[in-house]
Amino acid sequence: MGILEHGSPPLAGSRFLDLFAGSGAVGLEAASRGAEAVLLVENDPAAVATIRKNIEHLGETGRVRLLVADASRLGPAREPFDLLVVIPPHQPPAVVRAAGLTGETGWVPVAFPTMRAPVDGVWAVGDVTALRLPNGLPMPKAAVFAQQQAEAAARDIARALGATAPEPEISGRGRCWFITGAGEAGYVEGEFLTEPAPVVQLYAPAAEHFRAMEQELAEWSAQASG
Ligand SMILES: Cc1cc2nc3c(=O)[nH]c(=O)nc-3n(C[C@H](O)[C@H](O)[C@H](O)COP(=O)(O)OP(=O)(O)OC[C@H]3O[C@@H](n4cnc5c(N)ncnc54)[C@H](O)[C@@H]3O)c2cc1C
Repeated sequence: MGILEHGSPPLAGSRFLDLFAGSGAVGLEAASRGAEAVLLVENDPAAVATIRKNIEHLGETGRVRLLVADASRLGPAREPFDLLVVIPPHQPPAVVRAAGLTGETGWVPVAFPTMRAPVDGVWAVGDVTALRLPNGLPMPKAAVFAQQQAEAAARDIARALGATAPEPEISGRGRCWFITGAGEAGYVEGEFLTEPAPVVQLYAPAAEHFRAMEQELAEWSAQASG
């Protein structure tokens, strides 16, 4: 939404294409901000029903159209677009699914904060896992949390092997950046494990945030290669 609000090119009068549209929220937001025509492409029956309901509810049956199709198998576009948004479905690698490690959420269920999978001798960290926040929602899939989980798992593995290591812990504190163009970035920062719900703040795009993001990236890269 940061790009819709602050980015370029401007949305007013634009033609907007949203592949794997989900609820249709992004395209509908674009329409509400002046896009002239919005095409949503989605084929999951539940998502399609949600999109239809949302279009109807918002009275956007004119400007917003739904194409029920597999967005990964579209031929050449039959009309021009100014802005394309693609958020493909997120799923664990085939090898993880084939190993039978995934649970009912489709991801690997893990114990908090040890990151032990339900199979003896297996730990999982990062995007492949399903961890629940105190309010029942899934923990965001973010590198900042993957890093905390990796450290917690390493501690637990060391302890399982009989070594002396601190108790595993995951702070749940973290932030994610979004780049809005023109040398600016914003971010969402918060405490995701607080009860009863995460406490999260949105920081509007600014040049100083972009510089801080570049600095953080440089530090992560140095850590990874060091
Ligand atoms: C556009 C975008 C912006 C993001 N911004 C942020 C941000 O600002 N802050 C933040 O904290 N997080 C951000 N994230 C999320 C972050 O990138 C992920 O949470 C993080 O990379 C997860 O790390 P991971 O190690 O679990 O998985 P990955 O980084 O996906 O690593 C998994 C690796 O396994 C490899 N792999 C898969 N299958 C096999 C196989 N069979 N054999 C060998 N290798 C295999 C993959 O190629 C991949 O390299 C962003 C993600 C996206 C897409």
